[in-house]
Amino acid sequence: MKMVYVDNNATTQVASEVFEEMSPYLTRYYGNPSSMYTFAGQVGDKLREAAAKVADLLGAAPEEIVFTSCGTESDNTAIHAALRSNPDKRHIVTTRVEHPAVKSLCEDLSKRGYRVSFVPVDHKGRLDLDYLYDHLTDDTAVVSIMWANNESGVIFPIPEIAKKIRDRGIVFHTDAVQAVGKVPIDLSSVPVDMLALSGHKLHAPKGVGVLYIRKGTKFSPFLIGGHQERGRRGGTENVASIVALGKACELAGQHIEEENTRVARLRDRLESELLARIDKASVNGDVKNRLPNTTSIGFDAVEGEAVLLLMDQIGICASSGSACTSGSLEPSHVLRAMGVPFTSAHGSIRFSLSRYNTEEQIDHIIEHLPPIIDRLRKMSPFWKQSQAG
Ligand SMILES: *Cc1c(COP(=O)(O)O)cnc(C)c1O
Repeated sequence: MKMVYVDNNATTQVASEVFEEMSPYLTRYYGNPSSMYTFAGQVGDKLREAAAKVADLLGAAPEEIVFTSCGTESDNTAIHAALRSNPDKRHIVTTRVEHPAVKSLCEDLSKRGYRVSFVPVDHKGRLDLDYLYDHLTDDTAVVSIMWANNESGVIFPIPEIAKKIRDRGIVFHTDAVQAVGKVPIDLSSVPVDMLALSGHKLHAPKGVGVLYIRKGTKFSPFLIGGHQERGRRGGTENVASIVALGKACELAGQHIEEENTRVARLRDRLESELLARIDKASVNGDVKNRLPNTTSIGFDAVEGEAVLLLMDQIGICASSGSACTSGSLEPSHVLRAMGVPFTSAHGSIRFSLSRYNTEEQIDHIIEHLPPIIDRLRKMSPFWKQSQAG
């Protein structure tokens, strides 16, 4: 059976070029980069090369790149470091639509004596910037705002926010896990202090990430141990994965144009065909300011989980807008924050594409999804009600 993978905001396929680049570092070049002999020294050189490639994609300097174990570690490290370097300040500003890597941490901190302001979004998933600026105080230690949302795909105006916050003595962190490789990023002109990215969202393996720390930003490590990463993160480097992430960033730079043209066109065709063929369907989020690979579509009067199950039977991998992981069928916190109506939020499906998707795969979804929605609606009391009403 053919498989159509359109869940790239959850994770991506490792690019073959990336796998080729990393595999010698799992087999031949196993030296510890901290060791003195030449055999290990060449491993250290390769790590520096990887840092340079990541820095290049971000418009940063190689010394500003710290490799971590994942996006979650990068986010946690950034926020903890900001709080530690401002011990007198007890206030955090973040948004209502962050990934759990930031959201759950901030909720936890709010139980440990910190005050947290969660910036709301409107019905299109756009940030309430007035709320954000109005809530900055002398007590604010850190502002953490994602660059792009993983569910709606909506892009936040990070360059504008960063410029407003600079010089206020507040650390500005951004979770750019979904933005890197899809949105051009140039940190030489965008004054964020810290930025998180994750390997497995851009065709590198799972279990490696980066924390960018701008030169001059006060920092204290989260993992305290050896002198790796210039003392900013203890622990022997995950050499092969770091090499992979370097290569993935190099490729991302080369493919960003394709993301924004061919991939965006595939996404747009998928979206417009589904909306044309399926009654009572609507896009969640600001279509004018969105990641090129993402569409979240709400289908009225069906259960997202049921749609996923039936799509799975014909090889389509996507994700729903409900927090199925929690065991409840509550719509996700993102769709709730956007105020998406109950019956549409429950039937929301996120499709997230990549450069590996083809026209034929999109045809497969366009052909098979409408009858699935039809079939489910015929069994739905909500649908019968809405048709009768
Ligand atoms: C996936 C993701 C993360 C977490 O990255 P991991 O490497 O899986 O820990 C954080 N933020 C966003 C927006 C994500 O999409």
